[in-house]
Amino acid sequence: MGTLTEHYKSFGAVPAEGKNPWTGEGWTNLIYACHDELVPLDLDYIIVQIKEKFGGLRYYFSSKSGTDIWNKLNEVTRKYENLSFKTCEFCGEPGESSNGNHGWIKTTCLTCSVKHA
Ligand SMILES: [Zn+2]
Repeated sequence: MGTLTEHYKSFGAVPAEGKNPWTGEGWTNLIYACHDELVPLDLDYIIVQIKEKFGGLRYYFSSKSGTDIWNKLNEVTRKYENLSFKTCEFCGEPGESSNGNHGWIKTTCLTCSVKHA
C-alpha cells in the first residue's frame, strides 16, 4: 500500500509523509483518510493536485483503471470534499463555510473565524 507522497505526482516539491502543505492543518486528517480509502480501489491512482478552493477541499486524481474504478474514486473524493465544508480548515473542529472579511469563502469554526478574521 503506497503512501500518499508516493501517489503524489504533481509538480513541485513532494511533501514529507504526514505533512499537509496544500491546505490549512485542520484538513490534514481528511486528506490522509481520503487517500487511505482510494488506494484499495486503485493501487496505482495518482494525486494530481490537492488544494482549497471556495472554502472546500479539492482532491484531484487520475486513474488508468477504467471508468468504473474512476467513478468509485470520484465518490470517495466527493465524500471528503463534502466533509471539508463542515470541518474547520484551521483546527479540524466542526465548522461551516462563510464569506470572510476579505471576500474569501473559508470553512472555519467560530473560534478560528474570530482568530483569522
Ligand atoms: Zn477552528
